[in-house]
Amino acid sequence: MKSLWSEEEARAFPGELGQRVYSSRLLGRDKSLVLHGGGNTSVKLRERDILGRDIEVLYVKGSGWDLENIEAAGFAPVRLEHLRQLAQLPTLSDPQMVNELVTHLTRAAAPVPSVEAILHAILPYRYVDHTHADAVVTITNTAQGAARIREIYGESVVVVPYVMPGFELARACAQRFAAEAGPGTIGMVLLHHGIFSFGDTARQSYERMIALVGRAEQYLQQHKAWDICWPQAPQPAADVALDLARLRREISLVAGSALVMRRQADARSRAFAARSDIATISQQGPATPDHVIRTKPLPMLGRDVQAYAKTYGEYFANQEGTAAERKTMLDAAPRLVLDPELGLCTLGKSARDSCIVAEIYSHTIDIILRAAALGGYSALSAKDLFDVEYWDLEQAKLRRSGKAPAFAGEVALVTGAASGIGKACVEALLGRGAAVVGLDIQPGIAVLHQRADFLGIVCDLTSEAALRQALSQAVDAYGGLDMLILNAGIFPGGCRIEALASEEWRRVMRVNLDANVALMRDAYPLLKLAPRGARVVVIGSKNVPAPGPGAAAYSAAKAALNQLARVAALEWGADGIRINTLHPNAVFDTAIWTPEVLASRARHYGLTVEAYKKNNVLGVEVRSADVAELAAELCGQAFAKTTGAQIPVDGGNERVI
Ligand code: ZN
Repeated sequence: MKSLWSEEEARAFPGELGQRVYSSRLLGRDKSLVLHGGGNTSVKLRERDILGRDIEVLYVKGSGWDLENIEAAGFAPVRLEHLRQLAQLPTLSDPQMVNELVTHLTRAAAPVPSVEAILHAILPYRYVDHTHADAVVTITNTAQGAARIREIYGESVVVVPYVMPGFELARACAQRFAAEAGPGTIGMVLLHHGIFSFGDTARQSYERMIALVGRAEQYLQQHKAWDICWPQAPQPAADVALDLARLRREISLVAGSALVMRRQADARSRAFAARSDIATISQQGPATPDHVIRTKPLPMLGRDVQAYAKTYGEYFANQEGTAAERKTMLDAAPRLVLDPELGLCTLGKSARDSCIVAEIYSHTIDIILRAAALGGYSALSAKDLFDVEYWDLEQAKLRRSGKAPAFAGEVALVTGAASGIGKACVEALLGRGAAVVGLDIQPGIAVLHQRADFLGIVCDLTSEAALRQALSQAVDAYGGLDMLILNAGIFPGGCRIEALASEEWRRVMRVNLDANVALMRDAYPLLKLAPRGARVVVIGSKNVPAPGPGAAAYSAAKAALNQLARVAALEWGADGIRINTLHPNAVFDTAIWTPEVLASRARHYGLTVEAYKKNNVLGVEVRSADVAELAAELCGQAFAKTTGAQIPVDGGNERVI
């Protein structure tokens, strides 16, 4: 472990708070120290309040901020003297503690201070850094963890046995610190949790963290517990899309809401899942309490979701306290699945969450295997895990995150997604919390959005093999398919029937009709497994109810597609699949409306281009985004009891009305 400190970089962060921001980011840069919102840092500053009094303020990381990209505004300023006095109280409940923290901020707009704020306050150093460093939690999660930590660090750290984060932990640390700290103390190790370092300057505190964690890494190396030797992984199973979708459905049903499921089938994950001792090493809880909420206490082995839920229920029923009442607060669904064929599957309410769980577990795998090499992984007790999972503060955090978006945990696939209506549909669906797979023949689709909840696949829809491949990629990324938007289509230039070449007719049919039949057919088994019932939206055309001359192939293909959708509504209704059609007209911000086509159509009606754009009953321009919003709404609650419908989006057309 190397210090990343650079004096040159540090100069760009003036002031003591600036230095705090800089060294916090350095910690955040190293994923073996902190992951996703984990860890926290602070600095104690003297300030003058509005009455001119000199006060001490603890700037501590606020919740909702990641160390990696924290800014000065991410530190919550709390009156330090008040925190020191709170630490003297014999008890303080979690809600009381949060109330005290929030009501003693010196800036109303500050984020909620870290629940470890009191702990930071009682440490008599200007800068305090806290991480859940992999190497340190590896060693503390072994049977002789405490003794090993002593052996590594001697008197340079205070060692605190495991206590759940919050007020009790702050008190335990204060007591240990008063009893054990000496002039050589530069840090504090919390067993089964993490490590603190402190110093007079940001650099000193940061570099002590690096040095302390470096010693733990060295210890692991010396004990041949650093380099992991991976056994040969079994071959990844092919054609598991339906298995995955089935698994995601079952887990979502137990969770009570749709979840996105990400499959990680790399050699490392498969080798871990296929280990002969997996049932022992994976079933002992996470490396630090910080991970419990996202990963759940234990991964599921294999695919028996009901058995997992039952064990989970029994596991907690055996714990003391108001278990029965608390049980209703959380679901018994796993967030991690280890299966020798599937590899590692991780679940979350969004694609981002599923990625975070995967990243956390990837570190956990290293920790478990290194601890195993050191004599055996031994994590928190079931009781401790129970307490963390049902922790008031964690539950409050979940509640604060607010109402879930309409399509949270669901997966949509949009064809023709690189431009026009398709691109707008991607945005409308992402905006409602869905994970979206976009297909297009344009290479730009691959880079349309750089975010965890979007997967762009370059795909020729007229190739059935390419469609199947895209579906399987979608399932690997997100676990299934809940919504399908059939949008892709071509609009050839005007051509009368007597001049229509057969090859042109077939080309239009292949894209506008045949590709949709193939996709619907191949997507059906997946749609059937959508936990909340699947929805299909067909982007039709005004030409279906009101065709115009010169577009025979286009109109006939769209009319056939329309009839196909109606039959699908009849055939698939019993499977809970709804299919509805939109008939847009005169949407000009799409790829098929080149300026030439637009001008030619306007000429055809004897109008200027401007007048042609608003040539409808309402006199409005219909944009891609208008169609996309309605397409997304068709997938939503308002249309939960509608199938087989055809809705115009055309500003009102006299021939349609
Ligand atoms: Zn912590």
